[in-house]
Amino acid sequence: MPHAKLTDRFGRTVNYVRLSVTDRCDFRCVYCMAEEMTFLPRQQVLTLEEIARVARTFVSLGTEKIRLTGGEPLVRKDILELVKEIGSYGLRDFAMTTNGSQLPTMAKPLRKAGLKRLNISLDSLDADKFHRITRTGRLSQVLDGIDAAKDAGFEGIKLNTVVMKGGNDQEVPELVEFARKKKVDITFIEEMPLGEISDHDRGEVLCTSDEVRDIISQRHELVPTPEDSGGPARYYRMPDSDIRIGFISPHSHNFCSTCNRVRVTVEGRLLLCLGNEHSVDLRRVLRGHPVTNDKLRETIINAMELKPERHHFSTEGDVQILRFMNMTGG
Ligand code: SAM
Repeated sequence: MPHAKLTDRFGRTVNYVRLSVTDRCDFRCVYCMAEEMTFLPRQQVLTLEEIARVARTFVSLGTEKIRLTGGEPLVRKDILELVKEIGSYGLRDFAMTTNGSQLPTMAKPLRKAGLKRLNISLDSLDADKFHRITRTGRLSQVLDGIDAAKDAGFEGIKLNTVVMKGGNDQEVPELVEFARKKKVDITFIEEMPLGEISDHDRGEVLCTSDEVRDIISQRHELVPTPEDSGGPARYYRMPDSDIRIGFISPHSHNFCSTCNRVRVTVEGRLLLCLGNEHSVDLRRVLRGHPVTNDKLRETIINAMELKPERHHFSTEGDVQILRFMNMTGG
């Protein structure tokens, strides 16, 4: 495929695309969704072929890294077909973010289909608390999923933990020990104000990355490393372990100046920024031009003009972004 480059008004090159493959999920994490969710009707959702067209077009425009996400990507029917298709594009990096519940059976087929790396969400190692946070999840299933992923031989596995004060912040040391024992990286994430939730006040439970780092530093020396996985995390290493500890800090250490990413929702909305509403409807273009991808390509190139310089998250309790993370594609 001919390689071009996508560049925005601020000189940032966009070479990383996160594709949401479903808004549905088998979990209802308290920071991500409301308890009662209405999901999209089928005709509004891109078909797997349409998602593949979007992926191919981005690759022809210089995309080097694709992440599949959702919702829970592994609850989308025939997801392996899409993984196989995108796996054949020869990307530098091809990853998925998952809650891990389906990995006991899916890890090996995913690896075989060409997926290179997995991010697995894990907010607690206490079965009751895990159930309280996910509302429907079973910890043992996810732990089995992590083991299955290790056995399947992925190039990289990373755990993701959203830290909530009074929720799971006490478990940070234990989660770090777990990651060290399993020899997988772990990233701690500040909760973002996406969608209106009823479980807690997001401002009240915000646990900043600096606070999490202080907790870990009481047990382990943390050495900053300039390593970068092509995403928003800042990484640290410990002298006596091979794993990395990452921090994603949308509130406290804004990562916009190096933003190289865009997202496509499962409705085909190209989101130029996680924390802004700027978007372009790709579904209309896909369905209006079913034979060639020329118009799609042109629309994506022009959309770069809309990418905002930065996001402005506040913790004042006002809902800034109405879409939930399951719609945004985390
Ligand atoms: N279902 C998959 C999973 O659980 O990883 C993929 C989708 S989920 C939306 C992706 C990531 O976003 C998860 O690690 C989740 O913890 C995180 N997330 C969801 N809502 C968030 C929020 N409001 N702030 C920060 N992270 C959030």
